[in-house]
Amino acid sequence: MGMSSKTVRTLGPLGGYQIARLICKNQPRILMYHRFSSAPLKGWASPEYFEEQVRYIRQHYTPYSLAGLMEYQRNHGRMPSNAVVITVDDGYRDFYEYAFPVLQRYSVPATLFATTGFIERRLWLWPDKITWMLEQVTRIDREISIGAVPIKAGVIDSVLRGELWKQWVEHALSLPDDQKHKFISSLAEALQVTLPDMIPKAFAPLSWDELRQMQSAGIEIGGHTVTHPSLGRVTKAQARDEIFGCRDALNQHLGEKNRTFCYPNGQPEDVQDFLPALVQEAGFLGAVTAFPDALGVNERYLMRRHASGDNMFQFYKAVSGVELLGHRMRRNYCLQPGASVI
Ligand SMILES: [Zn+2]
Repeated sequence: MGMSSKTVRTLGPLGGYQIARLICKNQPRILMYHRFSSAPLKGWASPEYFEEQVRYIRQHYTPYSLAGLMEYQRNHGRMPSNAVVITVDDGYRDFYEYAFPVLQRYSVPATLFATTGFIERRLWLWPDKITWMLEQVTRIDREISIGAVPIKAGVIDSVLRGELWKQWVEHALSLPDDQKHKFISSLAEALQVTLPDMIPKAFAPLSWDELRQMQSAGIEIGGHTVTHPSLGRVTKAQARDEIFGCRDALNQHLGEKNRTFCYPNGQPEDVQDFLPALVQEAGFLGAVTAFPDALGVNERYLMRRHASGDNMFQFYKAVSGVELLGHRMRRNYCLQPGASVI
């Protein structure tokens, strides 16, 4: 519980959302979503909540795609008033199924960040491999150890499954990219499961056709690398391949457009100093992280985002600017400002 939650508790009942909205009028908020499901899952947006959120944005704010926001800023020399951007990461097919129809119904633009190797079905996203493997096993017969990660023998229930998932994903994120893939292979070996080459339906990506259709309907298709590594754990040459390769695939399949970029995983440790300039060199109009702090959208190649998604409380806090004000009151900077951008 940070200061921002306290701010919400103090201001919320007093119409604080409206006050924050006024104070933050010229500070666009960028909202972040990942997955959509009609079943209640933590962190996933239900179509009902999403519709409520999109309707609210349509009534109280001016929605933009991220590229649209950047174009506005370029043409007017300032940000538009009361702007809100909906962004969705990765390129899962549930976006087309659940979110796109809602966005169309309210004529709300948005930005979808696509991982192009995933769209091409050349890979499935590695955290999904961990999820899938854990779903296959119900017990572990004797204690095993992979790298520095020991796994106790016993029954794997849903609580333990959640804990192991978190532990393994965090460990994988701490590794250089090639070692991360080795770690996942050794997990499969230790758990005696064989990862299918075909992406299981629950983790399926959008197709290029669906992306084309959505692009024509006002959805920006932005970049999210080719293979979704942490760009904080790759060499500059690898980062270049990931960023430029993604751009080329998008342009090849969807035509040349103004696009923006999203750093995979998007935490401070997933960003290296040279990345903003590289993303800019690739022609992207801007880029986003996956955390909010006091800087808001001030750095065009490291614009901060607010989690939205699975509950209305977090949504109101994010969209109104209450969360942003909380970070500003605390002078919370996750990354030191002044990276050589814009
Ligand atoms: Zn992602």
